[in-house]
Amino acid sequence: MKAFIEMTKEELAATKIELDQKYNEFKQQHLNLDMSRGKPSSKQLDLSMELLNCHEYLSNGVDCRNYGGLEGLMDLRKFFAELLSVNVDNVLIGGTSSLTLMFDYLTQAMLSGVLGNTPWSKLDHVKFLCPAPGYDRHFAFLEYFGIEMITVPMNEDGPDLDVIREYIKDDHVKGMFCVPKYSNPTGTTYSDEIVKGLAALKPAAKDFRIIYDNAYYVHDLSQPGDQLLNIFDELPKYNNEDLVIMVASTSKITFAGSGVSCIVASDNNIADIKKRLTIQSISQDKMNQLRHLVFFKDIPTLKKHMQKHAEILKPKFDCVIDSLTKELAGKEVAKWTTPNGGYFISLDVMPGCAKRVGELCKEAGVTLTTIGATFPYGKDPQDSNIRIAPSYPSVDELTKAALLLSICVQIAAIEKLSEN
Ligand code: PMP
Repeated sequence: MKAFIEMTKEELAATKIELDQKYNEFKQQHLNLDMSRGKPSSKQLDLSMELLNCHEYLSNGVDCRNYGGLEGLMDLRKFFAELLSVNVDNVLIGGTSSLTLMFDYLTQAMLSGVLGNTPWSKLDHVKFLCPAPGYDRHFAFLEYFGIEMITVPMNEDGPDLDVIREYIKDDHVKGMFCVPKYSNPTGTTYSDEIVKGLAALKPAAKDFRIIYDNAYYVHDLSQPGDQLLNIFDELPKYNNEDLVIMVASTSKITFAGSGVSCIVASDNNIADIKKRLTIQSISQDKMNQLRHLVFFKDIPTLKKHMQKHAEILKPKFDCVIDSLTKELAGKEVAKWTTPNGGYFISLDVMPGCAKRVGELCKEAGVTLTTIGATFPYGKDPQDSNIRIAPSYPSVDELTKAALLLSICVQIAAIEKLSEN
């Protein structure tokens, strides 16, 4: 297939007529498909229905129906500690959302400071590094707190370390968000070198924290999945134990928004977090924790459960990627990722075209993630990145949506090329 940039004006015009015709046919189908958010499908949620059959309420003598146990059930802490290869003392169980854990941590840093340092809200200027494309909800947090966001380019092996090392010389730079495994939206798993580089950072700000959002730590689409080096093994080598605050949850394992979350951090950070927790609440939802413990049983059972998720998800990812390959390969109008796990495919269309693609898709009944949302302040400087979330629609729906998307990508590219 000829690249669009090599086509003559006449060839482009003829191709556009064909594409417009296909596009109009789609419009007549009155589609109503949503590829905007990384929601599990009902079939995936069905995999965890057994959770509702748990009527147990005792865990090692602890009556889970009652108050108490802010740290979370010991057995669940052990479970996460084993899964994430960390020490159980460094794990706390949170509520149903890891986003809440991150938000609460930022609130704590804003209001009380990090390990005795000046609360960030008392400083005149606080900045955060944001690898982008990245997760829009991280960016929304920072915007909410009035923290300035600095975009760090995402490379194929993770965020650009040279850029990070330069920015952290500024002591106003207080932290950074990372999604180290099957990153949202690029699907990147950080290489060993990047993990080691992050662990070795020496920021000017002593209260600099990497918020390490390990949302997709067991979310492989096929085996063997990507291997992520354990940053907690690396940190002590650089006397950097306190640098990282990791969170994870079972939102994409059991029920989205009704799972359990956990936070992993150094002894110092855990003590700091616990100080706040004891003021904030009397208890966590231990009944839900116990349900999850009984449901998971052990790590091999959890892994088998994740394979069932993969059996549902993989054909959806394949369907989108096959369609993009079939329709767009060789035309030099787009690049896309082929992740080994996680919830997203990241599509980069010709610069200046992403918004137009979003509009065209919307008009024909397919909703994509808000264009620009993968960058701080919702502004993609290249207007190029589109996050595709294939988990929720059926394969049939995705087949249509991916074809429509490919048509829109080409129409937008021709419109752009015809501007000159
Ligand atoms: N972090 C990332 C990177 C995510 O992609 C998501 C879900 N889209 C979340 C966190 C949400 O996690 P939770 O449901 O535990 O709040």
